[in-house]
Amino acid sequence: MEIALIAHNGKKPEMVRFIMDHVKILKSLDIQLVATGTTGKYVEETGLKVTRYLSGPLGGDAEIAARVAQEKTKMVIFFRDPLDKHPHEPDISMLMRLCDVHNVPLATNPATATLLLKGLMAK
Ligand code: PGA
Repeated sequence: MEIALIAHNGKKPEMVRFIMDHVKILKSLDIQLVATGTTGKYVEETGLKVTRYLSGPLGGDAEIAARVAQEKTKMVIFFRDPLDKHPHEPDISMLMRLCDVHNVPLATNPATATLLLKGLMAK
């Protein structure tokens, strides 16, 4: 199962904490991680394998949106920073829209992401 990880700059520390808290699950299940460029670097630093796409503002969110549309990415964990402006807002909206079009679970904060991973474990 392919899971995408994306975190805006103000949310990268929360993403690292989330990964560290769930590293066992992320390693034990049959999960392939993909991420936007800079988020992916942080993911790699936790010791997990991840396929990195472009940085978000350069098109990484759009690349992951395409994977959602192609039904390759089956879950998106996207810690958005609601207190900051983003030059790539149209790409962010597109990614979230495509998750809804394709009924792909989308978590935009750690509380929801934790519930999604718990749901996976229960399967
Ligand atoms: P980044 O992109 O992981 O390359 O920082 C995330 C984003 O801003 O969407």
